[in-house]
Amino acid sequence: MQHFKIKPGVPLAEQAELGHNRWHPDLPFLASVKPGESILIESLDFLDAQIQDTDDVADVKNVDLTRAHPLTGPFHVEGAEPGDLLVIDLLDIKPVTPVGFSGVFAKENGGGFLADYFPEADKAIWDLKGLYATSRHIPGVRIAGLTHPGLMGCLPSHDLLAEWNRREAPLAAKGLAQPPNPSTAVLRGLTGAKFDEMAKVAARTVPPREHGGNTDIKDLSAGTRIFFPVYVKGAGFSMGDLHFSQGDGEIGFCGAIEMDGVSHVGFDLIKGGMAKYNITSPIFMPSIVKPHYEQWLTFEGISVENGVNYYLDATVAYRQACLKAIDYLTHFGYTGSQAYMLLTAAPVEGRIGGIVDIPNCACTVALPTSIFDQDITPKGMLNDKSYWGRKG
Ligand code: ZN
Repeated sequence: MQHFKIKPGVPLAEQAELGHNRWHPDLPFLASVKPGESILIESLDFLDAQIQDTDDVADVKNVDLTRAHPLTGPFHVEGAEPGDLLVIDLLDIKPVTPVGFSGVFAKENGGGFLADYFPEADKAIWDLKGLYATSRHIPGVRIAGLTHPGLMGCLPSHDLLAEWNRREAPLAAKGLAQPPNPSTAVLRGLTGAKFDEMAKVAARTVPPREHGGNTDIKDLSAGTRIFFPVYVKGAGFSMGDLHFSQGDGEIGFCGAIEMDGVSHVGFDLIKGGMAKYNITSPIFMPSIVKPHYEQWLTFEGISVENGVNYYLDATVAYRQACLKAIDYLTHFGYTGSQAYMLLTAAPVEGRIGGIVDIPNCACTVALPTSIFDQDITPKGMLNDKSYWGRKG
């Protein structure tokens, strides 16, 4: 079996033959695979080996975000043509090194979903052992991983790349999107005039787009089958940003439980599948294997913030649900920042309740109670220990 290995702890620029950190249709292929073949793909953590196994948060605070995301690929798929669907089977996903990290970016460098409430950088180092993650920085918690890649996709066509740059430019001008940035671009070892020409338009990997990209969907876990639109001859599949575990929303932005990982990936093709099913963005069949959490504690948020009513705004409602969950956990010995990092890292479930009941949207965030050593459920006068058969 073909096996594409990273050097852990070494930035992509120093092993540039392995991959790329920008999207461009003319990236040279790393290797060729046949439909029906499976290969092993290793990838670096999404911050390109900048975060160290220490208690010092300076590496998160001063991180260079333009180095995200080091992707392994692109892989040429024999027979793939624009209009086909690339079928990707995530057969297995494992850490390469037994250490992962989560964090919160500083408000002035990266920020995150709750940057206005938690402006300081923070970091949690996780020990990865078999199915479980524990952290000396968030004691009393053990998480069973739902391990997945945050980022996968096929190369865009020239037309699609131009469309991305066109529509993102007005946001980039306001600092709300990341424009192409040649300074830290890695394009599979290209240099000279060819690099210069490509790097000035090559798209950043930060946003999810219609090819998939950085969707950070925790349910794209081992055992999932995904159908990707193909835009260029050979498809050009790339992946990276592996997560040992992640909460819905990846709210800290400095990640899930980020790791260097290896994915066993199967390839197949559905010829003409995009037109046949009118598929213009990926669809997938989630894995049947999941951590078995029976009991959840769920927090509700509505689209009201600081006394202002936002019209059916799911972003505001989800933020409020997360803030309520974090505040609740501070009554069980956690700091707000620890609870924030826990919500970004643990497999919390985010849901939209009603998105029609004007003027308020309702969202929920649910915590699996059994990741905690202690019982975090509320207690009444009866001190009822019988709920779900739980022993108090
Ligand atoms: Zn990530």
